[in-house]
Amino acid sequence: MGIFDRLFGRKSSSVIAPVKTREEIQAGCAHAALMGRWNSAEDMGKDDKVSEFVCDACQASFTPEAGRQLRATTAARMHVEDVERARQRAEKAD
Ligand SMILES: [Zn+2]
Repeated sequence: MGIFDRLFGRKSSSVIAPVKTREEIQAGCAHAALMGRWNSAEDMGKDDKVSEFVCDACQASFTPEAGRQLRATTAARMHVEDVERARQRAEKAD
């Protein structure tokens, strides 16, 4: 076995990223893309008739209560990040 084979073998094994489980993906997800799900078609679009929320990014599902709570906290965090970005832009523009 030549040195290039060994180098290639080592390189290729280190390049392969460990496969994340769904639980790991969901744990690292901010669940910022919650989509409402409705049991009946005629209730679709009605926020108070949502049967569950599903995160579009990681497919985690939440009860209506948990989903609304999560959306509220996500919106608050996004707002803080927007304010922070605006502040940084203002400092750079100075
Ligand atoms: Zn998610």
